[in-house]
Order: sequence, then structure tokens, then C-alpha cells
Amino acid sequence: MIVSFGSIALDTTRTPTLIRKDILGGSCTYFSLASSLFFKTGIVGIVGSDFPENYLEIFRNRLDLSGFKIEKSKKTFKYDSSFGNDLSIRTTNITELNVYKDYNPVLPYKYRKEKYIYLGNIDPKQQLQVIDQLEKPCYIFMDTIDYWIKTERSKVYEVIQRVNGLFLNEEEIKLLCETKSILKGAYKLLDLNIDLLVVKRGAKGAVMFTKDYIFINPSYLNTEVVDPTGAGDSFAGGFVGHLVKKDKIDDKTLKESLIYGNVLGSFAIERFGPERLVSLSLNEIYERYRKHCSMVFF
Ligand code: AMP
Repeated sequence: MIVSFGSIALDTTRTPTLIRKDILGGSCTYFSLASSLFFKTGIVGIVGSDFPENYLEIFRNRLDLSGFKIEKSKKTFKYDSSFGNDLSIRTTNITELNVYKDYNPVLPYKYRKEKYIYLGNIDPKQQLQVIDQLEKPCYIFMDTIDYWIKTERSKVYEVIQRVNGLFLNEEEIKLLCETKSILKGAYKLLDLNIDLLVVKRGAKGAVMFTKDYIFINPSYLNTEVVDPTGAGDSFAGGFVGHLVKKDKIDDKTLKESLIYGNVLGSFAIERFGPERLVSLSLNEIYERYRKHCSMVFF
């Protein structure tokens, strides 16, 4: 099983054409809905009494919920953001941690022995709490966001030093490494002893850095972009999902995983919130993977 930890949220998303309030969101949510299409995924996270029954139903249908908690006396994590005209730049309006504020994540015993762990974007102190409960050896991936880099910088670095793979977007690398050069930032991070760095570049695709090589893949040419929220976590879900399904960490599988990441990201942005991930099938993923490869390689 893949163990996924991170935020489970109610998002308010404002695009130039539409505003949707309190839709299902969060880093753990997007990642898990994507990864569970490839491999069984269990979530560790918490929501409040305001978390709607129809969202719970989506979780029940798709995920192992042994590490999922409902805290009746508190409110669910809330995230409010707006996109500009070309949907490429997101501005955070409000982040309300609510139920995550004093949350101490507890991994069910059966999760502690699992081999593949994803630490989605959330308080790095909580990411460290999860790492402390794991029994080695395992392969840990992590993500973060500008909010945590600005408020908990040293803790973010502490987490990075204890993981194998890191997913970041270009702005996060610049902020974290205090550089304008993605390449310089990438090598600074690889020096911290991670095996793998994946840089998500939105519409420009993604780049993977290891100590031995760099691999670049463009994004899938989407006809429809409705809501880019969650593209990064869905990308990570596709990447990790394929890797775990193959249960191999060799160069070929990693490169395939990067392409699956781009494919899952491209599906996620086609509808508001995680709607498209809920209706998606593995066959549709394979079909788009083949189509994308035929456009990129010759
Ligand atoms: P992405 O678009 O892939 O970067 O992920 C967006 C998701 O991250 C949204 O659904 C939010 O609910 C969630 N999110 C935004 N800010 C934070 C934060 N500071 N901590 C944890 N999750 C967050």
C-alpha cells in the first residue's frame, strides 16, 4: 500500500470565469485520488464536522481510511485562492489550518511497515512526526508549498534531509534555495543527499534531477484547462503510483513515472477540484500516456 499524508481541505477556488466554494481539496486528497488509480493507497489526515458526506463517500470508495480521522469539535482545513487570466499564476487569499493546527498524526501499525510514503504539502513538523513513526527501510517522497517555506523554513530543510524524493515547483525552488536559477537550486538540493528531485513547471511540464542525469518531459497538450488546483499533487500521485505499481526504482521506471506524472496533472486540470480524478480510469490514463509519448519521442 502507498501511505499518503497531507492536507484534506475544503477549497474555495476563483478563476476568471467561475468561483466554486468549499470543494474537495488538499494535497493528500489530490495525490491519493491519483495514486489509487495505480495502486492501493491509504490516507493519514483529519477533517472537521463540516466535511460533507458526499466527499466522505468518494474517500470510502477509493481509499484505505485506517489513518483518517474526523474531529467533530473542529472545522476542516480551508484554502482560498484565485487564478489570473491565463490560469498560470495562483494567489493565495486565505489559509485556515483549523483541524490541522494542533494535529498529531498517528500512523496505524500496518502503515508503519509500508515501503512507499508520500508526505504531501502540510506543516513540516507534522511531516517529521510521520517520518519518526516509520520502520526502515522505506522510500519517502515529499512536497511543500511557499506558505511552509516562509513560516517553517528550517523544519522544511529538516524534512528534506530525511527523504528520498522531492517534488517542488519552480517558485518553491527559488524561494527555498534563495536563487533565481532552477539549476543551481536543484544541485543545492541534491547535495542534501536526496536521490531525486522533480521540478514541476506547470504548462511547461517537468524536469527530474538525479545525481547521474537530468530528464525533461513537456506537459500534455490539453485542450481544456478549467482549474489548475491540485495539478502538482495529482502529478505526484501519477509518478509515485506508477513507480509503486512497478516496484522498481531504476532509470527507465523513473522516466516513465515522470511521464505518468504529467499525464495525471493534465487530467486533474480539466475539471474543477478533483472531479476528473474521480471519474478517471486506468485505461484512459494508458491511452493518454501512449498519445503523449507519440507526440514527444520519435
Ligand atoms: P497544488 O495545486 O498541487 O499545489 O495543491 C493544491 C492543494 O494544496 C489545495 O487543494 C489546497 O487545499 C492545498 N494547500 C494549499 N495551501 C496549503 C498549505 N499551506 N498546507 C497544506 N495544504 C495546502
